[in-house]
Amino acid sequence: MSHEHILVVEDEPNISQAIQYNLEKEGYRVSSAGDGAQGLKLAQTALPSLVVLDLMLPQMDGLEICRLLKREEKTKNIPILMVTAKSQETDKVVGLELGADDYLAKPFSMRELIARVKAILRRSSGPQTVQELLVCGTLKLDLARRKVTVKEKEVVLTAKEFDLLRVLMEAKGRVLDREKLLERIWGLDRSIEIETRTVDVHVGQLRRKIGSETKRLVTLKGVGYRWDWD
Ligand code: CA
Repeated sequence: MSHEHILVVEDEPNISQAIQYNLEKEGYRVSSAGDGAQGLKLAQTALPSLVVLDLMLPQMDGLEICRLLKREEKTKNIPILMVTAKSQETDKVVGLELGADDYLAKPFSMRELIARVKAILRRSSGPQTVQELLVCGTLKLDLARRKVTVKEKEVVLTAKEFDLLRVLMEAKGRVLDREKLLERIWGLDRSIEIETRTVDVHVGQLRRKIGSETKRLVTLKGVGYRWDWD
């Protein structure tokens, strides 16, 4: 039996009950919410292993919930399986961009739902624990403790510098442009005026701090930045 807790946010009682029944049959512990506000609150307090999230909800829609959960440190790693109606094609795309893990279009079979839930939980429990430590050359990034060392010596980074280094390393050698980095590190809705030059400034500071590993942080003029793994 699994001890994993799944939150179902769905306002149609028949669908909600069917989902709950089938997930419980698979051994999951299930909570449900019938509107968006309650769903958000439950997700923030109960910190479930996964949220099955309907998009059309009273009080607060699923996209807003997704956005808020992915913005908070405490809830950003909770996987989200979106449930959409056929007419919500664009919402589906927005949801995936906001960080939802997968989607199911209504009507769906319970067998399909269970398969998706299992796949997401497998993905989220597997690699995450393995990747708690990023090691490249003499540089070590401890994701859980947010600690960085170069040649076993601790390097003190600001929160943004740490995030920047992590995002670059996790891109596995792909080039990230400055807009992308801003979006990933400073968030989708930047309340303060932040220019792309901010990224350059942080890259500069990061470079000075990571000593001999600086050579891996490559600037591509007019394009962006890349982390060289080898
Ligand atoms: Ca609905």
